[in-house]
Amino acid sequence: PAPVLAVVGRPNVGKSTLVNRLIGRREAVVQDVPGVTRDRVAYDALWNGRRFVVVDTGGWEPDATGLQAAVAAQAEYAMRTADAVLLVVDATVGATATEEAAAKVLLRSQRPVLLAATKVDDDRLLADVADLWRLGLGEPHPVSGLHGRGSGDLLDKILQVL
Ligand code: GDP
Ligand code: MG
Repeated sequence: PAPVLAVVGRPNVGKSTLVNRLIGRREAVVQDVPGVTRDRVAYDALWNGRRFVVVDTGGWEPDATGLQAAVAAQAEYAMRTADAVLLVVDATVGATATEEAAAKVLLRSQRPVLLAATKVDDDRLLADVADLWRLGLGEPHPVSGLHGRGSGDLLDKILQVL
């Protein structure tokens, strides 16, 4: 079976937009309003002749347990079910306590974990991207799901770890 990449992160950071970019089609639902619950959905992807599956975890958006707990649970689930996990951070916001909590969970993972900084539509945000090294998840990969900037490099990294 094709290896599975799970995409996790807070609502509205740009996960679904990035998923569409990674799969090369607009199938994941992009929401302008945060917190709209969607089921987890798996999409087939192909890059450099290799197949893999991308899981968009929109269905984990917060309920009564609160955002931090929901994202931590999302990360736990992704670690158990996927071959690799991609944590998505909105570069225009930076790492919040929620990302710090998610990173702690992901650091215990036996699986490879990649870090993507989205909404990097131009170079002005690159200094903020560098700040994400402090999450301890390795190199933050700058990407714009909207414009596609950096997505080829990110896909190369994904296939290196899958
Ligand atoms: P999700 O909740 O994490 O799946 O986030 P979405 O993909 O639904 O995006 C949330 C909002 O951020 C939408 O209004 C998107 O258009 C916007 N967005 C997503 N990616 C980018 C990006 O790379 N650049 C910019 N400027 N906006 C983005
Ligand atoms: Mg989404």
